[in-house]
This record gives sequence, C-alpha cells and structure tokens, in this order.
Amino acid sequence: MDHKLKILIQMQELDDVIGEKEILTRELPQELSSMKQNLEDANNQLAETSHLLEENLKTQKLKELEIRSNKDKIDKYKNQLLTIQTNKEYKALNSEVSHLESLNTGIDDNLIELMEEESNLRTELENKKAIQKKADDLLKANEEILKKKIDAVEKEIIEIRNKRNTLAKDLNTTLVRRYAALIKNKNRKAVVFDENGTCSGCHYKIRPQLVIEIREGKKVISCESCGRMIVAKPFE
Ligand SMILES: [Zn+2]
Repeated sequence: MDHKLKILIQMQELDDVIGEKEILTRELPQELSSMKQNLEDANNQLAETSHLLEENLKTQKLKELEIRSNKDKIDKYKNQLLTIQTNKEYKALNSEVSHLESLNTGIDDNLIELMEEESNLRTELENKKAIQKKADDLLKANEEILKKKIDAVEKEIIEIRNKRNTLAKDLNTTLVRRYAALIKNKNRKAVVFDENGTCSGCHYKIRPQLVIEIREGKKVISCESCGRMIVAKPFE
C-alpha cells in the first residue's frame, strides 16, 4: 500500500481515539457539575427546613408569652374580684376573666399543634442533614478524581493531536486540508474502508473500477457519494 494511504489510516485511527476522548471531556465535567448541583439542592432544602423550625420555635415562644400575660391579667382580676362592691362590676370583671381563660385554652391548643409540627420538622431536619452529608461526601470523594481525569484526558488529546500532526507532515498540504475538512464535516471520519464493494462511511456502492483501484492501494480514492477517502481494509 502507498505510504500516503498508510499515513492516512494511522491519522484516522488517532482521530477515532480523539473522538472518544472528546466525549469524555464533555461527560466528566457534567458528572462533576451534577454532583455540585445535588449538594446545592441539599443545602437549600436543609436551610429551608431549618428556617421553618426557627419560625416555629419563635411562634411557640410568642404564644407562651401571650398565655403568661393573660394569666397575669387573670390573677390580677381575680384579686380585684375580692374587693369589688357592686354586682355589675363583679359581673363585668368575671366575664373578662372567663374570656381570658377561653383565649388561653385556644392558644394552648395552638401550641400543641406547633409542638407536633416542631417534632415533624426535627425529623425532617435530620433526614435532610443525612441527604446533605451524603451529597457532600460524594462530591468530596470524587471532585479531585474527576478534575484529575479531566486534566489527564485533555493532555492525552493534545498528545494524540500532536502525534497526528507529526504524521501529517509526510503528506502534502492539499491532502491534509482535505483530510481535516472531512474530519470536521463528516462526523470525524475522513478515511473509510471498502467493505465488500461499499463505502463503510455511507454504504454507497463503489464502482467496480474504483474497487480495483482501491485494492491496488496506489492512490487516494474518494467516495463518489460522501467524499470520504476509501482504502482497502488492512489484512484483506
Ligand atoms: Zn461514502
């Protein structure tokens, strides 16, 4: 086989590897950013529950203060009741005491609901802490590894590209440009094979005359349909 064709096959092999590694350079950062996103979500959820719990405790404190203040009033009125002269005053004060007592009963019920909610929120908080820790641990365990992998893959791509470019120095500029254009526009496949008389790039049937020329392997033959360079399969 012609030296040029051998070079082209080797360049395509290297470009195939570059293509696979480029997929990794997209997937690995995605993996990393999805771990970061998970942690951020977990942090937000935890903060939200923690905020709800704080609000609940504040409200409970206010309700307790309200009950205490009502109780103080009740005590005061009850003392006044002992010294009251007229029936009318007695009745008025007594009904105020009943009103405050029934208010306190309502607040008490409310407080019990708040305490139940508090207990639920505490359970929820523990769950969310566990989820947050898991997301944090996962990111911590993988962040460096993934960053190193991304760096390594990027370096490998540069090395392989250099290797390919060194090979390309043996070819004339026109051929290199054609190769590069095909890599760019034809889904990273510039060099394809004659597969039982069809182009392995686009499955177009190759003319018998061209098949003969491809098998002779003396010059670069292009597919009449996709334009890719067709070579004979090695070891055939
Ligand atoms: Zn083709």
